[in-house]
Amino acid sequence: MEKIRIQDDLYTFVNQKALDELVIPDDKPVAGGFSELADGVEKTMMGEFEAMTEGGEFPDEYLERACALYAIAKDAERKAAHGVAPALKNLAVLEDIKTLGDFSRLYKTLSRRSIPTPLNIGVETDMKNTKRHLVYIQGAGVILPDASYYKPEMAPQKEQILGIWAGVAGMVMAKTDLAPEVQQQYIQDALAFDAIIGGLAKTSEEWSRYVEMYNPMSTEEVAAQLGGVELGVILADLFGRVPETVVVTEPRYFEGFSTLFSSETLELYKHWAYVTGLLKACSYLSEELRDMGGAYMRALTGVAKMSSVEKFAYQLASGVYSEPVGIYYGEKYFGKEAKKDITEIVYQIIDTYKERIKTNEILGEATKEKAILKLSKMGVKMGYPDKVRPLYEKLVFNREDSLLDVMLTINAIREEDMLSKLDKPTEPENWAMPGHMVNACYDPFVNDITFPAAILQAPFYSLKQTRSENLGGIGAVIGHEISHAFDSNGAKCDENGNINNWWTEEDFARFDTKVQAMIEQFDGIELPWGKVNGAFIVSENMADNGGMAVTLDIMSKTEGASYEEYFTNWARVWCQKARPEYSTMLLSVDVHGPCVLRANIPPRNFREWYTAFGVTEEDGMYISPNKRIVIW
Ligand SMILES: [Zn+2]
Repeated sequence: MEKIRIQDDLYTFVNQKALDELVIPDDKPVAGGFSELADGVEKTMMGEFEAMTEGGEFPDEYLERACALYAIAKDAERKAAHGVAPALKNLAVLEDIKTLGDFSRLYKTLSRRSIPTPLNIGVETDMKNTKRHLVYIQGAGVILPDASYYKPEMAPQKEQILGIWAGVAGMVMAKTDLAPEVQQQYIQDALAFDAIIGGLAKTSEEWSRYVEMYNPMSTEEVAAQLGGVELGVILADLFGRVPETVVVTEPRYFEGFSTLFSSETLELYKHWAYVTGLLKACSYLSEELRDMGGAYMRALTGVAKMSSVEKFAYQLASGVYSEPVGIYYGEKYFGKEAKKDITEIVYQIIDTYKERIKTNEILGEATKEKAILKLSKMGVKMGYPDKVRPLYEKLVFNREDSLLDVMLTINAIREEDMLSKLDKPTEPENWAMPGHMVNACYDPFVNDITFPAAILQAPFYSLKQTRSENLGGIGAVIGHEISHAFDSNGAKCDENGNINNWWTEEDFARFDTKVQAMIEQFDGIELPWGKVNGAFIVSENMADNGGMAVTLDIMSKTEGASYEEYFTNWARVWCQKARPEYSTMLLSVDVHGPCVLRANIPPRNFREWYTAFGVTEEDGMYISPNKRIVIW
């Protein structure tokens, strides 16, 4: 085997040994990197749940409830005794729908019981006035991983995947009391209904341009698109009044709504709702049904077997009570010293960003001022929140209920809480991610960044690592999140998170040229598991580029900085081994590019990469200076 050189392939050079040794667990699609940290957190917290339950002592009422839910979800015998019955009881309401009028009057019940409908109504921040809320309406999703599978060129994959789905649906439907030929009819009708949705629904690429979700319309206008569905009746039921404005997130879907949902397709809808609703419920039924229902997603991701009942129970309980669980994790496993150190790094990065904006060549003076204002007002959330939001007070359930009924109760409480926010101000103090999550984010509508405690560990960050390593790890990730304020989406929102054009025309045109170049830098790259769509992942790639630019700037001012350590740790954080099926699926559903490209493409835009390792035209990771892109 030829020896890998860092100049040709940074990712493989750094990670070869780790990749050779990594074994993807049977119940997971991926190993290494983020998922390795997540597995560690999971193991730690499962141990905590077990110890709390055993000792009968809990730090607070929320953890006590989380452990109670954990116990119910983990009790295979109890779940087997309930069997499929709780799901069939829940779905029985569909029989009461004989007309679109019935559907309208039963909408709230359907929604509260988590039964799929072709329209989803929620309350979200008004993207043009982020202090208040508005009603949003969205269509249904497709059975396939993404609506793009309904494009003609994807026909072979579509047929294959829907074949798998129909097989899984057949096994689960056999558990119902319907006659075999009726079961098959339901499945065929569900597929027919899904095909109509597929022609109307947005693809992940369309969803990735999130400012395009904002299409406020008068309620009458939207109601007129819904044909026989009585939007006024539905809204009055949900809100006790009919709000004037509804934001349509998917205009094409609602323009074509009458072809999807009318008295002619009502039966198709009911069968679709029954089959997809039953499959959705499977994870909360017996272990046999959880296994059956999970087979479709496992086929899509190449996973061999379902996770253990303990892991499943932990994931469920820690998801429902995520904020209190995250606070517990953060307080216990993330020290104050680390929080202080990391917060300093964040402000150093923000300050450096401001300096870089001042000398940026894309922006004119007026636009620079706005960009700096946006940085000055950016919120910073590091570690975990101080207190649990009031929603968790309300998340109580009957401990005698079946697991499915418990989850339906919890979902209904969450929905009620979300809808009750319509006339209340937004709460920018809420955290977008819990403390035990290995992830980070920028919220464009709040203009803040969130770094949960769980990502603030090695290889991303450690007090034991060198400054250069931390800058190549968490530093670049912090820079990444800040850069989302100025990516192809974030650039359209102002310092308060409102959709607002703060650019001059000339500045935006120059910016857009860079966006196009960034699309081209990734577009069409062939990997063993498929081809990259540059437009779909452009905002994340811009963020990686910005994160690297700002941290390399800090490196240049850091005494004793080691570029070798910086780039090596940058490549290390992306070390990941994934199943090919999973990698293929991510290409169409994940706005982030594949890990190997995130490690290997950004460095070649920067002079420091070439000087640190003497990279020349002869090397694999060389691009000519006129192709190098630095935006921020
Ligand atoms: Zn990102």
